This record gives sequence, structure tokens and C-alpha cells, in this order.
Amino acid sequence: MNALSASCARQRPRDVESLVTGRPTRDGAGVRLTRVLTADLQRRLDPFLMLDHFASDDPRDYGAGFPDHPHRGFETVTYMVAGRMRHKDSTGGHGLLDNGGVQWMTAGRGVIHSEMPEQQEGRMEGFQLWLNLPSHQKMCPPWYRDIQSPDVPEFTTPDGVRVRVIAGQSHGVAGAVHRCGDEYPSKPLYLDLQFSAEQHFEQALPAAHNAFVYVYRGDLTVRGQQRATAVPLQHMAILGREGDGVHLQGRSGTRALLIAGCPLGEAIAQHGPFVMNTHEELIQAVEDFQRGRFVR
Ligand code: MN
Repeated sequence: MNALSASCARQRPRDVESLVTGRPTRDGAGVRLTRVLTADLQRRLDPFLMLDHFASDDPRDYGAGFPDHPHRGFETVTYMVAGRMRHKDSTGGHGLLDNGGVQWMTAGRGVIHSEMPEQQEGRMEGFQLWLNLPSHQKMCPPWYRDIQSPDVPEFTTPDGVRVRVIAGQSHGVAGAVHRCGDEYPSKPLYLDLQFSAEQHFEQALPAAHNAFVYVYRGDLTVRGQQRATAVPLQHMAILGREGDGVHLQGRSGTRALLIAGCPLGEAIAQHGPFVMNTHEELIQAVEDFQRGRFVR
């Protein structure tokens, strides 16, 4: 570690609380994917509801895509690592998501959209994260933004780690989506980290925030205050709550997501693509969708 990164070294880096392997599943019209953050972890990783990793060179795994389907009550954040995906929604929004690009969609009171591959061959890889909305925002107007790859803020640490800041702030660099006001209590941090040698990366994390790391190339080590924990490929490390940040050590070729946010602390009621606070609100969501109230 060089002098600069040592000077901002965390006093109490968080330890790994548990390691999680994803669950292979299919969604949409049969897209093969790995569900990394599953429903049983929604309470522990509040405000995050789901993380899917889709990665395949075989069009039979992704070609069917995600035809028209509804969402209400939360946000979907799609990050493409490779491939092209076209989005269309019931508010008139549409866009092409390309290598390295991000789509941030706030479903709010209701959106119907499709997410379809725009390629017949080649590799398709990316992530979809579901971020919960607080009760006072669940019925807000739908909103969406495509962030093309060159518009995702990026920097390289003195140690040589390339950092893409999708949301939040890292080492003074504000992300493509930066929410710090009181109206956005979840204050999400979403970083894509790329190591090119044996390198260290440190990130401050507010004490109350839930946080996890997902390794999607190579492997890394989480250096906590009590112990160092190796995190193998395609594993999620849930970070413990104790500590003021995280210290990661990767090596040549390691790529990982670091995601954190402030828990909302509200009841979570989910029925498929609807996530509300109560069962009654879910019944209302299904009824509104069936009566065509999601279409403006
Ligand atoms: Mn969707």
C-alpha cells in the first residue's frame, strides 16, 4: 500500500459476517441467471431486495429476454457489463443499454416495461439490483434514466484500482446517481471495482449502512479488524455492521461490486414484481395492474 492510501486507512474495517453463493434460476421468458441476493436476505440487507447476475455466451440462455411485465414500489438498477439490452416502458421511456451502461428505473406507483436483448450472439453479462423505496415514495411518479458508459464517473486510486461510481460517492468522486438529501433515506452506494495487480481498496461506510461485496471475476480478500476472509468467485460477502469502512485486497483481473445503503427499517411485503409495506397494498397493486392503471 502506498503512503496516500495508507494515510486514509480505516481504523476499524468491517469483517465478513457470512458468505453467500447465488441460486441458479430462470426469470422473464426463461433467461438463465444467478439470484445472488435472495428474498430471505431482504431484511438483513435492507434497503436492497434482490441482486441478479446474468452471464452467458449462449443466446439460448438470454435470447427470450424479459417481455412486458409490471413493477410497483421500488427501483430497478441494471448494469450491463457486456451486451446490449433494449428497454421500453409504459411511460413512453425507451433506451438502449450497452457495455458498461446503467439504467436506473424508479417504478414508483407503477410501470410496465420490457427488457429485451439486442443481439443474436456473443456474450451477455450484467446485473440487476432492486432498491426499495421508503413508504412515502412508493407511489411516486415513475422515472427512468439511461446512463451510457462514458457518463459513469470513473477514477483510478493511487494503488491502481479502477473504480466506476454508479451511485453514491467514493474518494470524493460523486456517482452517476448521487442521492444525499433527506428525501432519499437509502443513500445507496454502488461501485464496480477492477483490480489490475495485487492492490488494496478502502471505502468509508457509515456505521448504520448495510453492505455487501459480490465478486464476479477472480477473487479477493476482505481485510477486517478481526480477520481476513477470502471471497471466491461468484460469492457475496455480507459485511458485518461493526466498523467504519471496508478494506478489500484484489489481484490482477479481480472485478467486484461493492454495494451499501441505509436501511429503511419498514415492513417489506412482496408479491413478485410488487414490493409494498402491507398485504392490503399488494392486493391494491394487483388490482390496479389488472385494471390497466399502470398505463398513463
Ligand atoms: Mn423489470
